[in-house]
Amino acid sequence: MLDRTYREILSHEEYRFVCETRAFMQEVIAPYAAQIDRDDDVPQEVFEALKPYMSVSIPEAYGGQGKGLLYDCLVIQELGAVSPALVTFIEVAQLFAHAIEIGGTEAQKKKYLGKLCQGMVGAYALTDTGPGSDPANMGTTATRERQGWRIRGQKRHITFADIAELMVVFARTPHEGGDKSVGTFILEAPYDGFDFIRRSEWSGLRGHKAWEFSLDTYTEELIGGPDQGLQIALGVLNSTRTTLACGHLGLAQTALDMAIRFSKEREVAGQAIYKNQGISFPLIETAAKIEGARLLSYRAARMHDAGRDHRAETSMAKFAAAEALIEAVTVANRVLGGFSGNLDYPGDLYLRDAFTWVAAHGTIEVQKMTAARGLFSSRNPAAA
Ligand SMILES: Cc1cc2nc3c(=O)[nH]c(=O)nc-3n(C[C@H](O)[C@H](O)[C@H](O)COP(=O)(O)OP(=O)(O)OC[C@H]3O[C@@H](n4cnc5c(N)ncnc54)[C@H](O)[C@@H]3O)c2cc1C
Repeated sequence: MLDRTYREILSHEEYRFVCETRAFMQEVIAPYAAQIDRDDDVPQEVFEALKPYMSVSIPEAYGGQGKGLLYDCLVIQELGAVSPALVTFIEVAQLFAHAIEIGGTEAQKKKYLGKLCQGMVGAYALTDTGPGSDPANMGTTATRERQGWRIRGQKRHITFADIAELMVVFARTPHEGGDKSVGTFILEAPYDGFDFIRRSEWSGLRGHKAWEFSLDTYTEELIGGPDQGLQIALGVLNSTRTTLACGHLGLAQTALDMAIRFSKEREVAGQAIYKNQGISFPLIETAAKIEGARLLSYRAARMHDAGRDHRAETSMAKFAAAEALIEAVTVANRVLGGFSGNLDYPGDLYLRDAFTWVAAHGTIEVQKMTAARGLFSSRNPAAA
């Protein structure tokens, strides 16, 4: 089913790229997936093998491959199919890169995108100890000091902050543009004034490490204006939600494929269980939701690459993909019957990964709020 869909909706070059990427992920990365989940740790050689994928959409002028967001989507989809935990490694590089691309000066782009393309690890520190869905009210603040900024506060759930050599940090700048004003800052390791408090622990995405840390540090690197942080953060998420939607679909497809295989092999009362509509209907309904979300995601990515506003389309894609993922792992476990949760099958891993993952880059509810704004905006002729 997948190959037919790809041929129909991707160009020849995109199709070749996804086939090559899939082969790489299946042959090189997939053999590590069980070990990463078991050890809750990622071998260094896996990070090294994935580093070329950090620069796929970064413009060639800064050392990247200049391929556009749709290609990032294809990478994340194929990596999500074998190891969602590792998607977070590429995603944080993309979060960092998009922040610089959106708000950085030419000199910042040359310097920091160049470093990322050489393999330095980036991180993205937006979420605070306050509610992640309301970044305008974060507790971390930045105040002017000498030629730069003093940043104080506490961040939470910051993926790979422990190994990141570059970090984008968001902080409220109430003295610059009012109470809800936020600025975007770049920090480089070693980080002065950081205190790592604890690792955020989830049952899923094991191997992915996210951290809570306090910071009291100084930087002279501001991206954009001191009150443009929310604009930059939302612009960044607008891109990375598109790619993450494809990651969700990669895992959803893997769960669905496992359930299809099981339903053909497992016989009850003399016939394969898929011959019961009680099994085949939920499977085909899930397949349709995955394909629908995939079309939405690719469309949003193409709109991005064409320079068009795609906020509503991306949020639709992200919540459709997250819901398809939740449905796929739920249906897959139901089809497994008494083997759901049994460690001979990966159903339990899919459940843990899916529920840990879907809130990243904004929850389903937040995506619906963003998409609904598009529905009622003047861009929508029905609402104009
Ligand atoms: C695996 C993982 C990795 C992450 N990595 C990073 C990272 O590298 N950097 C980073 O900055 N952040 C990171 N995050 C944080 C992530 O972005 C936040 O968890 C996310 O934005 C949700 O924030 P919250 O958990 O504080 O939920 P809250 O904002 O506390 O929301 C709680 C619940 O209330 C709902 N809700 C909130 N407001 C409304 C409303 N108005 N209407 C309806 N429902 C509402 C939400 O949908 C959610 O269900 C990561 C999260 C995960 C799970």
